[in-house]
Amino acid sequence: MSAPAAPPAEPRLQGVRDALRSAGLDALVVTHLPNIRYLTGFSGSAGAVVVTDARCLLVIDFRYLTAGRTLLDRREDQVLELHLAEGSLDGSLVALLQAEQVRRIGVEAAWMPVGRFNRLAARLSPAEPGTEAAALLVPTERLVEQGRLVKDAGEIAILREAARRLSDVARQVRDHVRPGRTEADVAADIDDAMRRRGFERPAFETIVAAGPNGALPHARPSDRVLQADDGVVLDFGGVYDGYCVDLTRTLQLGSVTAEFRRMFEAVAEAHAAAVATVRPGVRASTIDAAARAVLARHGLAEAFGHGTGHGLGLEVHEEPRIARPVPGVADAVVEPGMVFTIEPGAYVADLGGVRIEDDVLVTPDGCDVLTRVPIEL
Ligand code: ZN
Ligand code: ZN
Repeated sequence: MSAPAAPPAEPRLQGVRDALRSAGLDALVVTHLPNIRYLTGFSGSAGAVVVTDARCLLVIDFRYLTAGRTLLDRREDQVLELHLAEGSLDGSLVALLQAEQVRRIGVEAAWMPVGRFNRLAARLSPAEPGTEAAALLVPTERLVEQGRLVKDAGEIAILREAARRLSDVARQVRDHVRPGRTEADVAADIDDAMRRRGFERPAFETIVAAGPNGALPHARPSDRVLQADDGVVLDFGGVYDGYCVDLTRTLQLGSVTAEFRRMFEAVAEAHAAAVATVRPGVRASTIDAAARAVLARHGLAEAFGHGTGHGLGLEVHEEPRIARPVPGVADAVVEPGMVFTIEPGAYVADLGGVRIEDDVLVTPDGCDVLTRVPIEL
């Protein structure tokens, strides 16, 4: 596997700086690890980033000093500075923010626990009552995530390669699915196949749901032994070079009932209809509606209880959300460079479940399906 290329940070940082300016903030403290990775390339398990108009400081502890220095050496743009935390990470953050003399400091509300927020706020404020606070912590939403919505060329290249590799795993998946084996056996084989194909780790707990378990969209692999005539939902994904891909196929062991085949064909039709709807300018909810309309026509409206898809990137579930519109939640307008899943399903108690999932990249005139695996029972 190739070493992860340092991302071109300047446009990414610029996006954050523009957002800071329009929010009237002097700095942003980034604590969500995927956002830290997006902005700096740092992939450690602890750290923080402080972005101001002039500086981008990566705060790390001594465990990551070597990794941090390597990162700095690899980057040619020299926009990143390393700050070694002495004592606690948050103590260093406070000292750094005070030294920068920033007054309005954004934090990532979705990722900052209330306790940590309160402790940071207390340390940034003077103890004497009546004195004006030197600095104010301001909750913000999606300042970095907004930039992550549309992938740049480097990210697209990684996601394409990841999807190609996941497709290789998926094309071989039937070899592992045999009567007499347990769901857990099959899941372990799939995880092993992903590692052998170069994935760092599974992107989520692999789903192998056989027979009636298929009717549970998020079933966990159990000790259930696969039966001769089971339908089997296989949903798996891997992390490659930091980026997540995700794929589902549904297979049938032995003979298929007419009822299960009808359900499979309806889901395949819904999947195709949703993929055909993907192009710049459409709303995410319109793509969802395309899948939902097909299933409704087949009498399966009630059987499809989840959204049609989710964004992929440094996280396996990120924006855009391809689902029914919900008040107060962004219904993204699709743009070239977005990467997301299309995964309609139908789940019927006693009959089982069908889900078909692929990953698509939005192009100027439609989309590329990045995962290439035959859709057949
Ligand atoms: Zn999936
Ligand atoms: Zn998915």
